[in-house]
Amino acid sequence: MPDKQFEYCTVCRLNHNRGKGHKFSAKHQQRLESHLSKALSKIRDISFFLSNPALLRHSDRASNSFWCSFCDTTICELDSTFVCSNTIRHLASSSHLDAIKKFWFENGASAEKRHLFVVQSEELAKWEDACKALSTASASMEPSHGAVNRMAVFVVTQLRKEAWLILAVALAVHPCILKIMGRPSHK
Ligand SMILES: [Zn+2]
Ligand SMILES: [Zn+2]
Repeated sequence: MPDKQFEYCTVCRLNHNRGKGHKFSAKHQQRLESHLSKALSKIRDISFFLSNPALLRHSDRASNSFWCSFCDTTICELDSTFVCSNTIRHLASSSHLDAIKKFWFENGASAEKRHLFVVQSEELAKWEDACKALSTASASMEPSHGAVNRMAVFVVTQLRKEAWLILAVALAVHPCILKIMGRPSHK
């Protein structure tokens, strides 16, 4: 009987020729557990923003990325308005679900936990609604550029007015002070 062909296990990062027997080995199951718990901890961080959508600051966009170990791809948020937008959409995509199914089948993972690694369509819809509401709320609170410019001009004008007032008061008071100081005291 010929030897089984070598296969690469992405979880154990090694070549083996044990066929299907490998995924049920204690070592593989142990590494699988650790791989899944790391991935789950990252997905839980993202789940926070799934329940609590937040605006993504422009300066944070470059650092807000996610590496999906199941799809072997990095999801960037360079064009995102909300924290983890593209990642949330990725986790809800059919391509990610297919990759999860494939990973589960190839690695003999427990089917009970599989749903924790994907975003359900109802969760995505809820998140999208919350994002829309947040956009509307922030748009009504944020002044437009025109309004910001008008506000800046107003502040500068007020400051100038106050500066002139202080100067005028100082000039008015100053000669009096001089007069008072220069007046001989009457006993
Ligand atoms: Zn393995
Ligand atoms: Zn994925």
